[in-house]
Parts: sequence; C-alpha cells; structure tokens
Amino acid sequence: MIDLHSHTNESDGTCSPAQLIEEAVRAGVTTLGITDHDTFKGFDAAVPLAREAGIDLICGIELSTKLHGHSAHLLGYFFSSGGMDEFRTWILEQQAARRDRNIRLVKRLRELGFDITLEEAEARGRGMTGRPHFAAIMVEKGYVSDFRQAFDDYLDESAKGYVYRHEPPFAEGVRRIREAGGIASLAHPVRVKGDVPAMMRELADDGMNAIEAYHSDHSEADTELYLCLARQYGLLATGGSDFHGAVKPGVRLGTGAGNLRIPANLVEQLRAFAV
Ligand code: AMP
Ligand code: FE
Ligand code: FE
Ligand code: ZN
Repeated sequence: MIDLHSHTNESDGTCSPAQLIEEAVRAGVTTLGITDHDTFKGFDAAVPLAREAGIDLICGIELSTKLHGHSAHLLGYFFSSGGMDEFRTWILEQQAARRDRNIRLVKRLRELGFDITLEEAEARGRGMTGRPHFAAIMVEKGYVSDFRQAFDDYLDESAKGYVYRHEPPFAEGVRRIREAGGIASLAHPVRVKGDVPAMMRELADDGMNAIEAYHSDHSEADTELYLCLARQYGLLATGGSDFHGAVKPGVRLGTGAGNLRIPANLVEQLRAFAV
C-alpha cells in the first residue's frame, strides 16, 4: 500500500518518526511519504528506521502558502536529494516567520483573556509550534469545549484571535520546489478556498505539476473531479491519508477514513517524471 501524506510530531502529528514507521509496518504501507509542515526533521530522523523496516520512504514537505488571499497547502516531493541545500535554507526562514507569528498570537490570546504563554505552547510544538498546539492548550484549560471550537471561535483565518502570518505566495512555493527538483502538488484541493477548476489554468501556469487527487477528505466524486482536472492540464496525481495520529483518530495510515484507494502504480508515474 502507498501513502504519500503523513505527519510526525516534528510538525502537528502525534507519532514520533519511529512510531510512524511502526504504524506503517502495522498498516501494511510499503511506500510512505512524510510531509511535515515546513520541516524535514521528521523525514530525516525516519530515514534509517525506514531502511531497517524495509519501507520505501519518500521525502516530502507540506508548505503553507497564500493563494488569492487564503492559506493553501502545497506538497513537495523530492525523489532525488541533490539540489536541496537552498530549499532547506528557505524552509528555515519559513519557520522563523511562524515563530514571529506565535509571539503575536500569544499577545492576542492574552488580550482576549486567556492565560497562555509562548513557553507552554513551545513545550508541545517545539520547533514547529503552530495553531493546533494553541488549540490543544485552550481545550485542556477548558477555554473551549473542543479543537473545533478553538479554531471556529479564535484561531481560524476568519476568527477573532487570528493574527497575520507571512506565507509565501503559492507561485513562490511551487517555484522553490521545482528549483529543488521536486514535484509540486496542490494538497487536499477540496479544502482550497475558491473555485479550484476555475483556478487550474493559473496554477498550472505557476508551474504546479501535480494535484492530490486521493485524500481522506475526498469523496469518490471529488477524486474523480481532481483526476479529471489532472488529465485536462497534463498534471500528475498524488495521494495520501494526511495521517496525524491521535489528533485525527478517524484517519488511518494507508486507508484514510476508510475511503482511500491509491493505485499501486502512482509512485512509478511520479518517479518516471522526476528523473
Ligand atoms: P499554523 O501553521 O500554525 O498557522 O497552523 C496551521 C494548521 O492549523 C494547519 O496545518 C491545520 O492543521 C490547522 N488548521 C488551520 N485552520 C484550521 C481550522 N479551521 N480547523 C482546524 N484546523 C485548522
Ligand atoms: Fe497538519
Ligand atoms: Fe494540509
Ligand atoms: Zn497534511
């Protein structure tokens, strides 16, 4: 089984790299892409463990970008490791932008009356502290009833606790991934704010060369639509569960919410393109 979208606790997943590899073995996933948000730390740590477990590990990343004023996630897959130095340096800059946002987010949440410090958020999120970690604290302290409410009422783009964070334009994310020899795939297109079919021309012109047609949030009809768009624009298809461990208990590695069926030849097609 193939799964090209998963997270470790180096971003917002709950499994350590070692636990994720164990989970892949248990689930029967033989080709695994680790796509942590804005970091390769989890992938780097998993490399020797995957080799030992006989898992074909694929280097990936999930970037937060700005597309038409909204946050859009962009996956990068790197099938060869050459030419990545510049990209890795750029990723560190993106992490610094999130840290700067976190300082302002704490200030805003404290203004709203919540007793939350940067230190306690960073104790959870370490190098990749993000809004989900703040949401977890808000749940734990009883400020909100659940994760959903933390985002809906305070942390979502449209909510009152939201503070701006610099995210690179979508086109820049695509360009950086392509310059590093990667494949740039629009993550979970069903979550993109706006009319994806209407935006496809522009996205393809930006250099985007794949679309995540298979994802836990996609219905069969969604998958069909995105496969059709991929064909129409000459793009590759990618797919994965978006496994986050215990924070998304309904999503399993490999099978997603029970709806994932990623074709066995998908990775061969991606590899054939990458060489
Ligand atoms: P950050 O990168 O710190 O701004 O946090 C972004 C992360 O928060 C995303 O990758 C999602 O996992 C999560 N997130 C963003 N918006 C929502 C939302 N409305 N509901 C639930 N999770 C969200
Ligand atoms: Fe995530
Ligand atoms: Fe995502
Ligand atoms: Zn993801």
